[in-house]
Amino acid sequence: MKIAAHTLGCKLNYAETSDLLRRFSTLGHTIVDFHEQADLYIVNTCTVTAVAEKKCRSAIRQAHRTNPDAEIAVIGCFAQVAASDIGKIPGVTLVLDNTQKHLLPSIMEERSGKVKMPSTDAFPLQYSSGDRTRTFFKIQDGCDYFCTYCAIPFARGRSRSASIEETLCMARRIADEGAKEVVLTGVNTGTFGMHQGESFIDLLRELDGIKDILRYRISSIEPNLLTDDIIDFVAHSRAFLPHFHIPLQAGSDHVLQLMHRRYDTALYAAKLERIKALMPDACIAADVMAGFNGENEEEFSKVLAFIESLPISYLHVFTYSDRPGTAALRLGEKIPIPVRHEHTARLLELSQKKHAQFIDSQLGKRRTVLWEHTNHNGQMEGWTDNYIRLARPYDPELVAAVTTEEITPENVVRESVV
Ligand code: SF4
Repeated sequence: MKIAAHTLGCKLNYAETSDLLRRFSTLGHTIVDFHEQADLYIVNTCTVTAVAEKKCRSAIRQAHRTNPDAEIAVIGCFAQVAASDIGKIPGVTLVLDNTQKHLLPSIMEERSGKVKMPSTDAFPLQYSSGDRTRTFFKIQDGCDYFCTYCAIPFARGRSRSASIEETLCMARRIADEGAKEVVLTGVNTGTFGMHQGESFIDLLRELDGIKDILRYRISSIEPNLLTDDIIDFVAHSRAFLPHFHIPLQAGSDHVLQLMHRRYDTALYAAKLERIKALMPDACIAADVMAGFNGENEEEFSKVLAFIESLPISYLHVFTYSDRPGTAALRLGEKIPIPVRHEHTARLLELSQKKHAQFIDSQLGKRRTVLWEHTNHNGQMEGWTDNYIRLARPYDPELVAAVTTEEITPENVVRESVV
């Protein structure tokens, strides 16, 4: 079969799609681009915003136009929350929720009469491939938090993960395949192991012992789960990098309460202070949601002032949109949509300013860089340990190598993350 995939949403989805395609390829199928003729189109969907859902529908329609006879498998979060609606879209032949989607290769093989379906009990540890230097490794799925704006717990279910032993076994396989940097991903990564009496920090300690993996990043961790022990561990570890992604969502305690987040601004600020005390050059990214209920002008000015006051390196900004079934539909003062967009624009502007300040603070410093394989018109690029993108003339000897470089106005790629 020729198989094509289109992925929407988070890094977790990208890791899962990559894992599925690798398994299809191992079974002897050919992977083609999504705009090409294929026998099976996979659309791995997202439900975080209304825009994401629109893009899911559009990808499904595109696949059906390209080959009306193809199978279209819609998987992931949108498939979970709107399975019956999706099943009615012309061309869709299979809808798999988040508990079933890793079974897609087996289901397709079973349809062709080749194999029996495996058990669905085990947690599907998955990782991305395709980049010889960096791999996204899914170690956790689901969430028990039920923040009032979020549909993910409905779409992905309760928090779950494999055991530390199983996770280490897969990490060693990733190391054997040559990945130099591993990004640990999950929906609520810090809850790894909580239902099995294991802990995230114990996993980190064990992973640090796999010497062939030179670098680890934690893709995102909730502020209340980023314990002082984890911060101290990262500061002194062999391979965990000084790069943190800590969702803030709102910089006003009133809005944080309406969101049912499990921290306040004081806790958030204390975490950042500890990070910077131990790792002064650490990069700290924050997710922020613009225009959530209660974020009137007075509260928004607190958000801006709070973010200004923090050593945040850049923001991921999302505009709030109502998600069906969430508690936010009934909570607090609604913010008009044009105001939400205005708040988004001002936060993006602030993010650019913060990022420029962070890069300026690093000029003249020497940091380690892992060089990637892509040749961009004679240039190659790589990330420093503290997540600054650098470029240099292409040298095949340096692909997947780590070197120490001075950050200069000439080698820095400023528009890399915002
Ligand atoms: S922590 Fe909150 S925002 Fe994150 S996935 Fe869970 S419910 Fe959603």
